[in-house]
Amino acid sequence: ATPMSIMVGTGRAAQLGVLFRKAEALQQLRDAQVVAFDKTGTLTEGKPVLTDLILDDDFSHDEVLALIAAVEARSEHPIATAIVAAAERAGLVLGTVTDFSSNPGTGVTARVDGRLVAVGAQRHMQHLDFTDFAKDIERLADEGKTPVFVAIDDKLAAAVVVADTIKPSSKAVIAALHAMGLRTAMISGDNSRTARAIAAQLGIDEVQAEVLPADKVRAIKALRADNRLVAYVGDGINDAPALAEADVGIAVGNGTDAAIESADVVLLGGDLRRVLDALAVSRATLRNIW
Ligand code: ADP
Ligand code: MG
Repeated sequence: ATPMSIMVGTGRAAQLGVLFRKAEALQQLRDAQVVAFDKTGTLTEGKPVLTDLILDDDFSHDEVLALIAAVEARSEHPIATAIVAAAERAGLVLGTVTDFSSNPGTGVTARVDGRLVAVGAQRHMQHLDFTDFAKDIERLADEGKTPVFVAIDDKLAAAVVVADTIKPSSKAVIAALHAMGLRTAMISGDNSRTARAIAAQLGIDEVQAEVLPADKVRAIKALRADNRLVAYVGDGINDAPALAEADVGIAVGNGTDAAIESADVVLLGGDLRRVLDALAVSRATLRNIW
């Protein structure tokens, strides 16, 4: 493309709410063969709500909710926000938290009034026996909901289930990408069954789930097999390394500063249709049609 065409193209894109931070990204995007998406906050709204609390017989609903909300008040994860909101709605009084620790991609642990409370993925408390919860959890995960587990004083006390909403445009965007001959993928830290259920609802081709934040880069490299050029769309701090690794990193609006800094393209607002606009502009620019 001529310098003039690139200038017009980036200007045209900006009018559509698509900011190309580097001119090369226009060409890279035109040549992309795979478009991979983060799940939470990118394909979904990222504002989950608590839908189910499945209890072990030795624990009560309000007791568990108050304990986990106290711990999660220290976390900024969307699951934490959902749990704290549920405790607030129930008008629960939260205890005193000490020894808080957060493990990226697995969960949180702290003492609440002296009791040891852990909340997170199964891998956050691997030594516990989950068989009693397995059936309920599998059913809910197959509906696309996210289960996390609660251990109190090292005993499995509950499963907390949150549900996030798929963004209104996600499904149509995936279909449009397929119509353009592109392959689609999802990379998520979430539970495998949950991620697979959401991917199936959206018609996404490939899923990599239970990916730790540090491993998202490896997930991008895996998608690049056969020399495919990979675009990655993400919003979170977690996504910054993957955005930098991808051939084209696309940060979706209202994303975190770290995501925006690492991206080649920034979409204003959370609407994924801007991904299609970005592709359309890159194709038009490289054909010098302006
Ligand atoms: P994603 O944003 O793709 O869900 P994360 O890496 O942020 O990925 O989280 C992966 C998983 O780790 C979550 O699905 C959840 O099981 C667990 N997790 C992380 N942080 C928390 C938290 N504060 N409370 C409960 N679970 C958490
Ligand atoms: Mg996200």
